[in-house]
Amino acid sequence: MLRSAGVSAKQARLFLRRGRANPLWHGHPWVYSGAIERTEGTYEPGDLVEVCDIEGRLIGRGLANARSQIIVRMLTRREEPLDVDHPGDTSEQALSRLLARRLTEAALLRQRLHLPSPETDAYRLCNSEGDGLPGLIVDVYNGVAAVQFTTLGMKRREGAIYDALLALPPPYRPRAIIEVSAGGFARLEGFGSATRLVHGEATMPISCREAGVQLEVDPLRGQKTGMFLDQRDNRVAVGRLASGGRVLDVYSYAGGFALQALRHGAIAATCVDSSSRALERARRHAQLNALCGLEVVEADAFRFLESVTPRSFDVVIVDPPKFARAHKDLPAALKGYRRLNALALTAVAPGGLLATCSCSQLIGCEDLERVVAGAALDAARSVTLVQVGSQGPDHPVPAAFPEGRYLKFLLLGVR
Ligand code: SAH
Repeated sequence: MLRSAGVSAKQARLFLRRGRANPLWHGHPWVYSGAIERTEGTYEPGDLVEVCDIEGRLIGRGLANARSQIIVRMLTRREEPLDVDHPGDTSEQALSRLLARRLTEAALLRQRLHLPSPETDAYRLCNSEGDGLPGLIVDVYNGVAAVQFTTLGMKRREGAIYDALLALPPPYRPRAIIEVSAGGFARLEGFGSATRLVHGEATMPISCREAGVQLEVDPLRGQKTGMFLDQRDNRVAVGRLASGGRVLDVYSYAGGFALQALRHGAIAATCVDSSSRALERARRHAQLNALCGLEVVEADAFRFLESVTPRSFDVVIVDPPKFARAHKDLPAALKGYRRLNALALTAVAPGGLLATCSCSQLIGCEDLERVVAGAALDAARSVTLVQVGSQGPDHPVPAAFPEGRYLKFLLLGVR
């Protein structure tokens, strides 16, 4: 839908099919291409557009990309102006001011959450839809911002976003900014993205802290933006319960759960991951924090669990990567989770705990509970649900956007 020369730059208007507007009125931030009845005007990928119901009532404005299944990501609701000081202004400058305002609000929320703190200076400053900035992730590691664009609309405004970050007050103004490539998202949305230093100076790895544990994070070479910040509170919760126990941390990455467990007095912790680089970091982290008792095993999680001595760990954590990317993957994914959890349950000593996670957006908490019940049957163990969790509070989600609550965390008592 390229705009031809001479046509005015007036915003295109997308009208939704009857019955498709309701979730958006309630604050769901995504418009699927199948929900569009008709389009008035033309737009280029990443342009700001108006979204209306079939009656022509303005639901709000968002950034559009016809290449994506999610054709619009909403930025404003109803008549809410882009720029409060110039209510009628729908220009690119007004949009820049909106982005800056939203980042300021994101920083204020983190301030309320006591982030950063002396114990934790690795946190998420901006969680995409949850901070009213769909397509923008900002993770901060000791003052260095790792920025990831997952939509073309946001990538197109990267200059304004970097400026807005640098205009934040301390401690939120970053001393350096790194863009972290968004790989698959970039291909899907049709933009180039590379991992690169955008502003300032930062020596890698970055020393930072999570709940009192000293870490080294390298956004230029790590997974995601460098670490999996969403599990912080779950790592602490499990760590506290692991004192005196033997811990098995499967899909450990750089040792997140194991380190908290050792710090809270676990006798020993075994990290299992297929990435030797992640395990090297885990070992380094144990050293940095003078924690003894860490063992690392480079292995496929399933293969490892198949050969582990039954009932030999007091606390087992399984935190696998996404098993389901699309609806068609669901049956295989559910089977995979069931098998994984059955194997993990076998490793738990009677009276111990299993912390099991899923980061597949398509698998709900109740799905995971059912999976675990099936796994308990397979492993001939009985389990009770001790605690249910999700991603930490610096990963907020709009209330009308269950898709945003992708991380499921169940803590189970095992007999
Ligand atoms: N628990 C970690 C995050 C885990 S992310 C934390 O708290 O930080 C998922 C991890 O699974 C990654 O480190 C990845 O290297 C690892 N992984 C992916 N496939 C694997 C497999 N087949 N076997 C073992 N580990 C795997």
